[in-house]
Amino acid sequence: MRLSQFGEKFARDCGILRLMDDLGSALAGGEAMISLGGGNPSRIPQVEACLRERMERGLQQGDTFERLVGNYAAPAGDRPFRQAVAGLLHREFDWPVTEANIALTNGSQTAFFYLFNMFAGRFSDGSRRKILLPLTPEYIGYADVGLDDDIFVSYRPEIEYLDGRRFKYRVDFDALQVTPHIGAICVSRPTNPTGNVLTDEEIGRLHALARHHDIPLIIDNAYGPPFPSILFKEVRPVWDERIVFCLSLSKLGLPGARTGIVVAAPEIAAAVAGANAVLSLAPGNFGAYMALDLVESGDVLRLSREVIRPHYQRKAMQALDYIAEELDGIDYYVHDPEGAFFLWLWFPGLPIGSQELYERLKARRVLVVPGHYFFPGLADDWQHRQECLRMNYAQEDAVVREGIRIIGEVVREAGTRG
Ligand code: PLP
Repeated sequence: MRLSQFGEKFARDCGILRLMDDLGSALAGGEAMISLGGGNPSRIPQVEACLRERMERGLQQGDTFERLVGNYAAPAGDRPFRQAVAGLLHREFDWPVTEANIALTNGSQTAFFYLFNMFAGRFSDGSRRKILLPLTPEYIGYADVGLDDDIFVSYRPEIEYLDGRRFKYRVDFDALQVTPHIGAICVSRPTNPTGNVLTDEEIGRLHALARHHDIPLIIDNAYGPPFPSILFKEVRPVWDERIVFCLSLSKLGLPGARTGIVVAAPEIAAAVAGANAVLSLAPGNFGAYMALDLVESGDVLRLSREVIRPHYQRKAMQALDYIAEELDGIDYYVHDPEGAFFLWLWFPGLPIGSQELYERLKARRVLVVPGHYFFPGLADDWQHRQECLRMNYAQEDAVVREGIRIIGEVVREAGTRG
């Protein structure tokens, strides 16, 4: 059987597929794995109770259930939900948005597939353009979404060393070049895998660059405000028609609902709706239904700020304590966890590559994600890529601690300079 280039792209091994496979097998049970690998959010009882109550109410209310499962949404997604999101963004941030600025997708991952292929690849004048990732490490899920190969250009960050074996990546604006071959700039904020939160100044400078070159700035806000607000410092979210702001219901506790939200200029929102119509007729109804009341009432803000954010902040601090205890004596650094729910560990001088580190950990039943996947588009051969790993700290504390203990053992066995 012969596959087209399109078919081959999906048939071959890629980072996101391996990650989702490992995670799926770990969740499916069998061998007890310590799963610090995927992007699954924590199970937070107050969030679960709220979602369960919403589901039960719907089941009891007239024909709500039948309408939920029995109708296709419009290609841009459920209108009352889009209106509710626009209202919330207007009230909260004073953004001049209406439902015409909003399109839903089946998960924000799907939105990135659409957006990157809309702004990169072959253009009608014969030119080819790429997506600029101003700072790597950056989200693994971007790496394979281009229909063209090599759709990213990216840069190493500057590294700022902080107290207590922590560090922070910063955009190296001196190195950054926005050539005519760049079709859009994209950042995740907070960043998966590192927990970095780009400063308002960094976002301001990227926005100015996008304006100067007349290209969009895509901000992947899967973890940021107004929901789920998993970030531990104050930032000021900005939007205008040059910015494509992507939200998701996943990290709020609804990854199974597969709901992404794109906030953009009306013509971009309409193009996203068009892509929905062609590729899946319509986005699913379920996420919009589950979150409608929460967004309309603004309760989602309270839930995010008073329940979700403190939950992850506590877990981040706890995980840092475990790291300090279990990695004592090892030469390591950890990225300052400013948001999201991952720790990004760096072992300078690690004599084995990050893939080998991943394999050795997997053999010890600990799943993490090897660091080298998080540098899409980085042309130079930076050794740093081979010295890092990402671990999710959203799981139960005892699981996180045991995982970190084993990471310590495996790295000690491999040997580092320290
Ligand atoms: N963006 C970032 C930074 C993520 O970490 C994830 C998931 O882990 C996504 C986007 C995609 O999320 P979803 O497709 O569930 O909305």
